[in-house]
Amino acid sequence: MRLGCHLSIAKGFAHAVKTAPSLNANAFQYFTKNPRGFRTAKPLDRVDAERGRALMREMNLVAVGHTPYLINLASPDEGLYQASIEALVQDLLIAEARGSYGVVVHCGKPKDHGRDFGIERMQAALQSVLAQSRTEGVKILIENTAGQGSEIGTELPELLAIVDPFSVDDVGICLDTQHAFAAGVLSRENPEDFPGFHDTTFMKRLNAIHLNDSKVEFSSHKDRHALIGQGYLGLDGIARLVNDPRLAEIPFYLETPVESEAQYAEEIAAVRALLDAP
Ligand SMILES: [Zn+2]
Ligand SMILES: [Zn+2]
Repeated sequence: MRLGCHLSIAKGFAHAVKTAPSLNANAFQYFTKNPRGFRTAKPLDRVDAERGRALMREMNLVAVGHTPYLINLASPDEGLYQASIEALVQDLLIAEARGSYGVVVHCGKPKDHGRDFGIERMQAALQSVLAQSRTEGVKILIENTAGQGSEIGTELPELLAIVDPFSVDDVGICLDTQHAFAAGVLSRENPEDFPGFHDTTFMKRLNAIHLNDSKVEFSSHKDRHALIGQGYLGLDGIARLVNDPRLAEIPFYLETPVESEAQYAEEIAAVRALLDAP
């Protein structure tokens, strides 16, 4: 099983690569740039990227980047929309240099323009990004949302509609378990009933799972992660997910609210302890 967590690259990408195995992670996620900003603080360190990339190969790790939260690919505001496109192009190039197979981006917020506007706006943005970036081996991974405010991509039909025009090699899906739980589409009692797991198109696109417990109740439409076993999805819900044979090939990434990176070792151990004996 591929299981890892979100790691800081403040000390460089290669440093994060070396940290992962010490936490018993064989996959990790990192922010492509400051999560609250748009611009990279420094230009990409190509030597560091190449070193990290070689180490990843050596240690059999996989990685994905995560875009900053300000990106809104469905924004009705032209300035923010164009900046979002530009930022995602840059992120794909960064991820390619770092040997990462994907870049996770949240579904957009069309404000009061509605769902159909949002879907079309996102599709036009993705088209433009792919035409500009021309990266190889890096997919844009669209993440489902909890449905806060005007967020789209909460339910399966919307997610599938957004990604539909694109090749599975270019655009995939990242499923966040907390968002799906808070959206009311994935339950603690029967997480295996989540409609996506029964949909071949969705499963073909599913390239990453954000494995998070939920600080808020089912269907509360809030994005609030909890430590593994300390939320409403609970150890039983999480156990059913990580033992689901349909998800055996999909990397799991923890984004739980740890106090330090070292604590991810405990989080990863807690998940591994849930795995059924082979
Ligand atoms: Zn997530
Ligand atoms: Zn979240």
